[in-house]
Amino acid sequence: MAGLFQKILIANRGEIALRVQRACREMGIRTVAVHSTADAQAMHVRLADESVCIGPPQARDSYLNAASILTAAIVTGADAIHPGYGFLSENAEFADMVEAHGLTFIGPSPDHIRMMGDKITAKTAMASLGVPLVPGSDGELHSLDAARAVAETIGYPVLIKAAAGGGGRGMKVARAASELEEAWGSARAEARAAFGNDAVYMEKYLDRPRHIELQVMADSHGNVVHFGERDCSLQRRHQKLLEEAGSPVISEAQRAALGATVTSALQQLGYRNAGTLEFLYQDGQFAFIEMNTRLQVEHPVTEMVCSVDLVREQIRIASGEPLGYTQSDIRFTGHAIECRINAEDPETFLPTPGLVSAFHAPGGLGVRVDSALYAGYKVPPFYDSMVAKLIVHAPTRMEAIARLRRSLAEFAIVGIKTTLPLHQRIVEDPQFQSGEYTIHWLERFVAGG
Ligand code: ADP
Repeated sequence: MAGLFQKILIANRGEIALRVQRACREMGIRTVAVHSTADAQAMHVRLADESVCIGPPQARDSYLNAASILTAAIVTGADAIHPGYGFLSENAEFADMVEAHGLTFIGPSPDHIRMMGDKITAKTAMASLGVPLVPGSDGELHSLDAARAVAETIGYPVLIKAAAGGGGRGMKVARAASELEEAWGSARAEARAAFGNDAVYMEKYLDRPRHIELQVMADSHGNVVHFGERDCSLQRRHQKLLEEAGSPVISEAQRAALGATVTSALQQLGYRNAGTLEFLYQDGQFAFIEMNTRLQVEHPVTEMVCSVDLVREQIRIASGEPLGYTQSDIRFTGHAIECRINAEDPETFLPTPGLVSAFHAPGGLGVRVDSALYAGYKVPPFYDSMVAKLIVHAPTRMEAIARLRRSLAEFAIVGIKTTLPLHQRIVEDPQFQSGEYTIHWLERFVAGG
């Protein structure tokens, strides 16, 4: 494949570093792993063609150390950097630095990363391109009085959200006027502490929405396609735990209509590479909340139903190749479900780093495990607690659930507690099986109610 990169540095760790390596290897591209001193024995280091230590355990000194990572890329002669998700993946300054040094950042342009990284500019841009929004403030709120005025207009309950938000932080509900001052203060304080930016805006707090997102891919020649929706309504503390493709409640016609709106918007924007637009869906209406300008954790469910390698597509597009197919070539087959398995106590959700003494992953037809775990691996305490993703694919949702049940039963991670037992409980639940759940369901399920 002429014109493709020769060597890609993967600026990440864990399962996603492996995921990107796998695509590279199949494309004949050499890989460079980077790692902190805590990750010297990690699987992503063992399986890479080359590896470079980029700093001490704390992420800010290693996986977030842009200068160190860029230096590693230059020293090893990599011609592109894949950022994975998290860490530097949505850092426009890093993308700028990479390009300024003559390397390719595998992702959108720094300007689009910047635009979507601020949720206020993202919403303004999407609204102007015809994408429907959750009702709320027209941009940033500069005072509590302004917040009060908007809340009176849209009606309580309302949500104060951080413009720089992510990971569910900097988000506070006010159910009535009496709660607004508290929500305003705590959302801003949390946003300042987490993101160094206390700009906030307001949205109507929807009482029973589903979280439905659309996967898009755009090349640098103006072609944009979508790979359908993912339903990520099963969340705890605004963090996704289990995702499905397609959504149990979205029809093909709805998918096509949303897809048309979104691909047209991104075409007008001149967007490039992978992206996900997140929506809340309630009473038959979609309302945009944010766009992620990177690969998502839950991308495998889309890969299973569309038979596409999204990382391969990202790499091809970043090298300048056209998509080479159109929307009508994309077919949706069967149903896929992903469980995020975290090194956490399934009751308290406290992290459980430590030694994995034995590890056995399920297999068989329609089963995929993305994980960097192995027997003898010590899960370090410094990073995100997600240690594995179990993805199943089957002709129908009920068959996917049956496959999930048997795969969960086969999965053995010994030595540390994980959220596997929680997933086993979820699959057995009649409400989950019915597909009738909202973003608030799991929180109540976990609380036992
Ligand atoms: P983050 O970037 O921190 O993940 P999002 O804006 O993507 O924040 O929202 C995360 C989750 O919070 C959503 O998936 C949804 O469950 C919930 N949420 C966000 N906005 C609203 C809203 N207006 N009403 C109800 N729930 C919301």
